[in-house]
This record gives sequence, structure tokens and C-alpha cells, in this order.
Amino acid sequence: MRFDVAVVGGGPSGAVAAAELAKAGISTALIERNLENVKPCGGAIPLGLIEEFGIPEALVEKKLSRMSVRSPAGRMIFMEMPNGYVGMVRRERFDSYLRDRAKRHGSEVIEARMKEISRSGDTYTITLSKEHPPVEASYIIGADGANSRTAEVLGFPQNELQVIAMQQRFHYSDTLKPYEDLVEIWFDGDVSPDFYGWIFPKTDHIAIGTGTEFRKHNLRELQDRFVQKIGISEKPYLDEAAKIPMKPRKSFTQDNAILVGDAAGLVTPANGEGIFFAMRSGKLGAEAMIDRIRNNKPLKIYEKTFRKLYAPIFFGLQTLQSVYYKNDRLRESFVAICEDRDVQRITFDSYLYKKMVPAPWSVQMKIFMKNIYHLAKGS
Ligand SMILES: Cc1cc2nc3c(=O)[nH]c(=O)nc-3n(C[C@H](O)[C@H](O)[C@H](O)COP(=O)(O)OP(=O)(O)OC[C@H]3O[C@@H](n4cnc5c(N)ncnc54)[C@H](O)[C@@H]3O)c2cc1C
Repeated sequence: MRFDVAVVGGGPSGAVAAAELAKAGISTALIERNLENVKPCGGAIPLGLIEEFGIPEALVEKKLSRMSVRSPAGRMIFMEMPNGYVGMVRRERFDSYLRDRAKRHGSEVIEARMKEISRSGDTYTITLSKEHPPVEASYIIGADGANSRTAEVLGFPQNELQVIAMQQRFHYSDTLKPYEDLVEIWFDGDVSPDFYGWIFPKTDHIAIGTGTEFRKHNLRELQDRFVQKIGISEKPYLDEAAKIPMKPRKSFTQDNAILVGDAAGLVTPANGEGIFFAMRSGKLGAEAMIDRIRNNKPLKIYEKTFRKLYAPIFFGLQTLQSVYYKNDRLRESFVAICEDRDVQRITFDSYLYKKMVPAPWSVQMKIFMKNIYHLAKGS
């Protein structure tokens, strides 16, 4: 079978890329190793994503406009999002919907694992599992997640900073009822010494998880302590874990191949948000590829555009994480700063629509002084 483009990996990044390409009339194969895959994920998505990609209401299980943040000493800050909400999706339904959409637009969906890629002239030959015949393509999009085999085989630079995150799903119980309508985040060294813990409600369960830098701490112990601190005695019905690559690769474009989503390392530091960036990179990558095929434009435009749009957000969140996630004293200061209404407004505006709207000078000064005050005071 021969296609213009082979997309390896059918998560949000790959499915969006395949849909965009097929919609433009480019012959596209979407190769996914397991169509029943349940990606370990909190499934929190911003309103901007829901609007941009026309995600149907039925897939958004909860629309949460309340959030609470808990400090190491147990201080709670409650926040409201007046202009939007965090949507909660279940990845098994969400990913399947996106893949079906790619198929509806004309992409061929192949259930098989990519084993090897070889290149002869302008043709890539992709060897697949399950005795599936090889696929030939002129271009490749690697959308196969944090452990991307495509990136390895094609010789892209390493995926560097990786967090390993674990999540457990619990059925609702009396202990968990209070969490059913808000997003709760714990900044607490007992729960995570370098990331955070989350409690995300869905319609039929609550997902509770934590993360830490890969191979640095015992993730299972952190998760057990988190669950114990919340006061849950019930057993989870599902445990899941996976890596989160929170640093873009040094380069994620070649002449005839690109990486998108987690494969490229496109998850923001500090909050571990990856679904939005996976889908945006899938879309931008597909657009650049269409321009490459039709007008012989270089694929580098994709990486340049992505960095131009989102490098300030990655930089800001990286700075925040390296300043405030170091110890409990600093985490306490961070939570204290979250009490400020202007901080909340700026945070939610940039989360919901990924736009860095500069605050007025007086507000910037006030936030700056509060930072200094809380850092010096330690709370
Ligand atoms: C515990 C946890 C919680 C998270 N919570 C959130 C959250 O609440 N909100 C948020 O925005 N982000 C969250 N993230 C990050 C988010 O899940 C990822 O950034 C997002 O899934 C990236 O999408 P993707 O399509 O690039 O990769 P993936 O979703 O990883 O998809 C990759 C796909 O490729 C397939 N694949 C892999 N290898 C092959 C192969 N060789 N051949 C064929 N197919 C292959 C896989 O089966 C998979 O379907 C979380 C991550 C973790 C681990």
C-alpha cells in the first residue's frame, strides 16, 4: 500500500494530523498499534481546545469552573473561572472519536505496530506487526508518544526531561463525593517533590494521580501517600502510569519527516498539559506538510511556527516550576500567591486560550512585589 503520508500513532496528535491531511485530499495512513488503547491521562482540556477542534458536548463529561489548590501546610485556596471551564474527557472515548473523524475525512486507519522504517530515495517503507503488509509513504509524521520509535529510527535528538506520572481511578464514595465538581491540585512534597498531585472528577469515577522526575523518586510510594492523605480507604479499580515529556526535542523536523505531540516533547512544564499541544502540533504539522507536498515549502516552517507561538508559554512555566517546585517552603509561597485575583485571572486566561495577554503595569508590579514578599516570608 502506498500513501503520500504515513502517520505513526493514533493519539490526539496523530489523529488530528491525519484528519487535516485527508481533508485536504492528501492520501494518508494512520497507523495505531491498538485501537482500544487507554492512554494514562487526567483528560483535562481547556475550553479553547474544545472550541477550536469542535469537540462534541457528549465527550466532555464535566465542565469545571471551580478549582482548589492545597499547600503543604494544608492551606486551601479556592478559585472561580468566570470566563470558561476545564473540560474533563475520558481518553478511551476521546481518542477513538478523533480517529473516527480522521477516517471520516478519508484517512486509512491501520491497526498494527510500526516495527521498522527504512528509506530508499524518496520512499519510506514501514514494516508493521500482525503480518500486515508494509506501508510505503513519501512523508512521515511520528505521533507515537513519549517513547517514540519513529524518532529513534529516524535519528531525531533525544526526548530529554521526562516526568513519570501515575494515576488511579476510583468509583465515587462518600469520601470522594466532595470532589465531584471541582479540579483540585496539591502542591505538597509528600505527594510530589518536584511536580504536583491532582484530583480530577469524571462522570463515573475520580482520577487521582501524581508525577515526579523519571527515576528520581518512588512514584508508587508518593501515590500511596497521596491517597492516604486524602483519606481514601477504598481500592482503585484501575492503576495506570506513563511518561510525560516536558521539554521539546532540540529539533523535531527533518526534510521529509516531523514529530508531533509527546513524540516531539511538547508538554508544558509545571502543569504537564499535553493534549492541547498535541492537537495544535498535529494541525500545524499537517498544514506544513500540505504546503510541502503542494508548493515544495520546507517542513521547518512547522517547527518555527510552533516555537514562535508557544515558546514563551514553555519558558514561563519552566521558570515557574524551577523557582517554586523545589521545596515545601517555596510551594507554600506559591499557593499564597495564587490567592491574588489578578494572578488567578492571568492564569486562567492563559490556560483557557493559550494567549499571553500582558497585564497592566500596575498589576505586574503588584504581582512582582507579592512574589518577593511571599518568597522572603516563606508563605
Ligand atoms: C498520568 C498522566 C496524566 C496526564 N494528564 C493530562 C491532562 O490532564 N491534561 C493534558 O492536557 N495532558 C495530560 N497528560 C499528557 C497527555 O496525556 C499527552 O501529552 C497526550 O496524550 C499526547 O498525545 P499524543 O497523541 O502526542 O501521544 P499519545 O496520546 O501518547 O498517543 C500515542 C499513540 O501512539 C501509539 N503508538 C505508540 N507506539 C506505536 C507504534 N510503534 N506503532 C503504532 N502506534 C504506536 C500509542 O498506542 C498511542 O495511541 C497526562 C499524561 C499522563 C502520563
